Amino acid sequence: MDMTWYQDLESRIPTGEVRTRFAPSPTGYMHVGNLRTALYTWLIARHGGGKFILRIEDTDQGRFVEGATEIIYSTLKECGLTWDEGPDLGGPVGPYIQTERRDLYAQYAKLLVERGAAYYCFCDKTESAEDSGNFEKTEDPCRSLSSAEAQARVDAGEPFVIRQKIPQGGQTTFHDAIFGAITVDNDTLDDQVLLKRDGLPTYNFANVVDDHLMGITHVVRGSEYLSSAPKYNLLYEAFGWTVPEYIHCSPVMRDAHNKMSKRHGDPSYEDLKAQGYLTDAILNYVTLLGWAPKGENSEQEFFTLEELSKIFELSGVSKSPAIFDREKLNYFNAHYLREMEPGAFYTVAEPYLKEAVKTPDIDLHLIAPLVQGRCDTLCDIAPQVDFFDALPEYSNELYCHKKMKTDEQNSLEALKVTLPVLEGLTDWTYDSIHAALVGLAEKLELKNGRIMWPVRTALSGKAVTPGGAVELCQILGKAETLRRMEKGIQQLS
Ligand code: GLU
Repeated sequence: MDMTWYQDLESRIPTGEVRTRFAPSPTGYMHVGNLRTALYTWLIARHGGGKFILRIEDTDQGRFVEGATEIIYSTLKECGLTWDEGPDLGGPVGPYIQTERRDLYAQYAKLLVERGAAYYCFCDKTESAEDSGNFEKTEDPCRSLSSAEAQARVDAGEPFVIRQKIPQGGQTTFHDAIFGAITVDNDTLDDQVLLKRDGLPTYNFANVVDDHLMGITHVVRGSEYLSSAPKYNLLYEAFGWTVPEYIHCSPVMRDAHNKMSKRHGDPSYEDLKAQGYLTDAILNYVTLLGWAPKGENSEQEFFTLEELSKIFELSGVSKSPAIFDREKLNYFNAHYLREMEPGAFYTVAEPYLKEAVKTPDIDLHLIAPLVQGRCDTLCDIAPQVDFFDALPEYSNELYCHKKMKTDEQNSLEALKVTLPVLEGLTDWTYDSIHAALVGLAEKLELKNGRIMWPVRTALSGKAVTPGGAVELCQILGKAETLRRMEKGIQQLS
């Protein structure tokens, strides 16, 4: 067999550097487990000063979703998971989209046939028979066809698949960075299809060929692939290739018994964004789903990607499944929201503020700082600030506050004395309003709360508001403040 073509491909494989890949299938949904895989692969590459490669695994055309590749790109970009080689950037071992590598898999499948590690199979097995694994590989008549017979049938145009020829008897051991050495009896492994009738490879074949030809040193993927790993090892062995380091990660669960899944409405990265979570908070939280820092960082919770790439060690990856905990994510998100520079917070909050407050004269820049420390997610903004647009119906009960020593009667009196004072204010600023209200309380020898509480209640119609009486006056403006206070007086009278 002429090996020049193969040798040429092999000679392109970069060596002497850490090379990891994120290899999503374009199924239209970047679930949390996928994002975590992307993160871990990226972190390994950056930690090792190596390359992070993006490969699109689109050989399963049945699962292909229009626009899905764009979601992969945009998610990685938004998350700052920069790649060094990929479909858009090219690179030394491209193409980086599997359907564009189609011919190559067929060549490598033939090479395996040549080496006796695979065979042409002409049987008409249904897919379900395939999936159930309910067939005896030794009974497959094609397994024992002579190569001349098989070749003659191929040449005659008979449809075929190429199957892996698992050795009979014996055992195969493979190593995983998380799960250690795993040994299985070869008799439990099926003669899996490597190349389908349509000439496209199965995932199990394509990933081995590509990981090798792309020089991948560390393979991170979900533990659902763990049971196939011995078959990969046999393929690597048959080709005479070095097996990369496997890092199989336990699934991300929605509860103790169920994996997160699109079908059950569990959120993707995009969903989480739409639900008001910040990218940085999502990344920080997702990294800790199944990985923990060690040593001096073991108590630390909040990390930037930059920090993570310095300290990320495989030994911190956990064997046990991680449960996606919304409360914990909220906790991270609230922290990130609070820690933002006011300007940056305004930028992310603005769309939510605009959605909730449409009155043109209201300055949203004044509201943003009031809600910054009071949100788990950005979606918590609207319900807190909706009263700026329209005073809700409220009960006079709200005026009664034990600690402030207010009741309906003294609130009515407070509003009545405050109204002319505010009416007389020419300068409507935070400081002037504050001075006026505090001055009034002092003059009447009342605690501030006796004035502030009724005013705040009249202006908001709510028991809890971001900001107190002075801020609300300032934001609502003089005319609206006076109107709402009059309404309060009416309602209490
Ligand atoms: N294309 C596979 C998936 O999206 C990737 C598995 C792997 O990383 O090897 O599940």
